[in-house]
Amino acid sequence: MGRRLLFLGPPGAGKGTQAEMLARTLGVPHISTGAMLRDNVERGTELGMKAQAIMAAGDLVPDDLVVAMVKDRLGQDDAACGFLLDGFPRNVGQARALDEALGAGALELALLVEADEEELVARLLQRAIEEGREDDNEQTIRNRLQVYRDETEPLVGYYPDNGVIVVAVDGMGTVDEVFSRIVKALATN
Ligand code: AMP
Repeated sequence: MGRRLLFLGPPGAGKGTQAEMLARTLGVPHISTGAMLRDNVERGTELGMKAQAIMAAGDLVPDDLVVAMVKDRLGQDDAACGFLLDGFPRNVGQARALDEALGAGALELALLVEADEEELVARLLQRAIEEGREDDNEQTIRNRLQVYRDETEPLVGYYPDNGVIVVAVDGMGTVDEVFSRIVKALATN
């Protein structure tokens, strides 16, 4: 049985990059709801059309849409032997829906990647230049950080209360430095 992990942390903490590297190392699928939603927007699917304006504003896409998308993805064969969730759950409602879908005790561990607020904003602004993501402008970035504090950060308390350990990893430094901290954290947890 492969590992069943999830990444928590604010936008810009480096979750996406780290999750991709870790998924490759562990041989489990990297399930990024942000990437899946962006793909739907690009393809102009019904889900994409519903999500587009919400994502551009940096708000959360409604739980029912995201939960259905994730359940569908977790039902695919490659997720049977472990997975790495990135960007989901984003609030307590989604976490409860995931617990229901997977059954109690299915999630092993949450990795919380943290970085200073100034560093987060600087990284997201840099990504705006490099990747041209519609939601990487300063106003949307501030909103996404606020949404993280209000909606997602409570999961740092929710998971330990529900039997999933949360391991904090310092997200400051280079990609390789952060990755080695993550590998070390997983080896001891
Ligand atoms: P991310 O790539 O994880 O930063 O996500 C980009 C955007 O996609 C977010 O700002 C939300 O608008 C949307 N999104 C991604 N994951 C979720 C989720 N689990 N629930 C609701 N909206 C999401």
